[in-house]
Amino acid sequence: MRAMVLHQQREPLRLEERPRPEPGPGQVLLRVRACAVCRTDLHVIDGELPRPKLPLVPGHEIVGTVERGGSLFEPGARVGVPWLAWTDGTCAYCRTARENLCDAARFTGYDVDGGYAEYAVADERYCFALPDSYDDLHAAPLLCAGLIGYRTLRLAGEAERVGLYGFGAAAHLVAQVALHQGRRVFAFTRPGDAEGQRFARELGVEWAGGSDQMPPEPLDAALVFAPVGALVPAALRATAKGGTVVAGGIHMSEIPAFPYEALWGERIIRSVANLTRDDGHAFLALAVLMKLRVEVQRFPLEEASSAVEALRAGRVRGAAVLVP
Ligand SMILES: [Zn+2]
Ligand SMILES: [Zn+2]
Repeated sequence: MRAMVLHQQREPLRLEERPRPEPGPGQVLLRVRACAVCRTDLHVIDGELPRPKLPLVPGHEIVGTVERGGSLFEPGARVGVPWLAWTDGTCAYCRTARENLCDAARFTGYDVDGGYAEYAVADERYCFALPDSYDDLHAAPLLCAGLIGYRTLRLAGEAERVGLYGFGAAAHLVAQVALHQGRRVFAFTRPGDAEGQRFARELGVEWAGGSDQMPPEPLDAALVFAPVGALVPAALRATAKGGTVVAGGIHMSEIPAFPYEALWGERIIRSVANLTRDDGHAFLALAVLMKLRVEVQRFPLEEASSAVEALRAGRVRGAAVLVP
């Protein structure tokens, strides 16, 4: 099979011919139909996340059809594979419905090979059945951008005025979910990104501006999707008393010091880590119910590096998706 392979961090991906992976007990062999490109993939490739499996096939937003293996899905069934690949089921976190924090968790496209390839294997217990209302291309970004974005919004509580910092794959989906829930949404893009701000307004947000601007009124919550630590104090300053700033990414540059006054007034800063399977089921059901619109930019598998560069440069409208 063809695969895009990372041999060393900070080196480009290489297109290679590799043997098809063999499914082990409880695993399915999937023919990959589409795999979205996540910001986390950039952190893995760039060496910002330590000790990935090497060589590695990145990619953790996989849509595939079951070729064989496992017992939960029929051959031909279409499934989604998310970032959470495996947990031990026994640690203190797993036993308290927090498998996203499992000490021994393994992650797709990081600890195990992912979906930048023609085939992949996955533990069937962590795969999701996918709704028919999304084709392969549009289902892929639901699996991380949508799902972890949804968890990020959930952790913001009942906030009415929600700010989204970084208007990429996750934010364009979360904005719609938040609006569907009757919240008010404010989008913050890179300063001067008129196209990104137009995209946000098209999706119905009531205000869009640069991350260097203050919103027209204070926020009750701010979700930070861009991996830029300086956005945390900026978001805090835009947040009303009692508000929450949620960091939605797996990596962020260092957060600069800020005066206690910015946190005072019972403001909260927290992060979101990974996902639980319950998040996945809840989010996919909601996406169908509300007819969530997914914006994608398609790249052939061989052009994974172009997709990665486009994402890095902020040139992707919605989500980049690889098709083998
Ligand atoms: Zn991701
Ligand atoms: Zn565990």
